[in-house]
Amino acid sequence: MARKGISILKGIEAKEVIDLLNRAYADEWLAYYQYFIEAKVVKGIMKDGVVAELNQHAADELRHATMVAERIMQLGGEPLLHPKDWFKYANCAYEAPENPDVLKVLEQAIKGEQCAIDVYSKLAEITKDKDIVTYDIASRILADEVEHEEDLQALYEDIEEFIDQFKLKDA
Ligand code: FE
Ligand code: FE
Ligand code: MG
Repeated sequence: MARKGISILKGIEAKEVIDLLNRAYADEWLAYYQYFIEAKVVKGIMKDGVVAELNQHAADELRHATMVAERIMQLGGEPLLHPKDWFKYANCAYEAPENPDVLKVLEQAIKGEQCAIDVYSKLAEITKDKDIVTYDIASRILADEVEHEEDLQALYEDIEEFIDQFKLKDA
């Protein structure tokens, strides 16, 4: 634990930040796995583009988990050691891709990103002017989650449009 690094917190306890970070850490692992497994099982129209996007997002969520774990350690905390704790601490729901249809998978992933945006915008609000380093990490991750939502939404709309055109031709 780095004492000087912790001494710069103003009006917030390290423990409070560590708890919030561990919740976000659980979310990142569940998000990582959700993307990982979605990329394996997804089926349907424009599948290749969707798989590429899902894999890219999986890599981003794993990178986020690393950023969050490192910050927990800097604050003298311990990142969750057991995967069973992921469900106990997570803010966001894990959405298993039981229906592997591209649109359904994208819908679930969009929901996850919207939850992540809430989590990091709250974390940024709570740490603003109090824990500059966590605030910076939360802001950077938040920007990624906003991009994720946008990417998935754009893909969703492209696929919908493609389906509509197909239906028109058929009619
Ligand atoms: Fe993330
Ligand atoms: Fe994300
Ligand atoms: Mg993307």
